Amino acid sequence: MPVDATLPYDDQNIFAKILRGEIPATRLYEDDYALAFPDINPQSPTHILVIPKGAYVSWDDFSAHASDAEITGFVRAVGTVARDAGLVASGYRLLANAGLDSHQEVPHLHVHIFAGRTLGPLLA
Ligand code: 5GP
Repeated sequence: MPVDATLPYDDQNIFAKILRGEIPATRLYEDDYALAFPDINPQSPTHILVIPKGAYVSWDDFSAHASDAEITGFVRAVGTVARDAGLVASGYRLLANAGLDSHQEVPHLHVHIFAGRTLGPLLA
């Protein structure tokens, strides 16, 4: 069920619970600004989710309200995760859904990293 990303942040969403350690996830990378873990339903051989630690629903919410340090930290983390996962040579795709038309399911900003197979010209 896609989420309405214009609604206020819901701190009971599943990624908020993962951040708080209330739901298990394999923590592939973590720093002050970001957490990365494998997607529970992978759409490619490598499918990693990277989320900011702050309470942001979508990329537009994040870019409007996060501090410069949070934005820099999160963007750096996404690249670090891709490098650490060894994806640079073969390539990878980043995707961030936002709101109803995108079919965003979890109302906490996340960037998908897809890799490990030829992804084609468009994911949609
Ligand atoms: P969205 O459609 O919101 O961009 O993507 C949400 C993603 O979160 C989906 O790919 C889904 O498989 C993943 N996901 C949902 N619940 C969990 C969970 O409890 N743990 C993990 N690791 N991934 C989840």
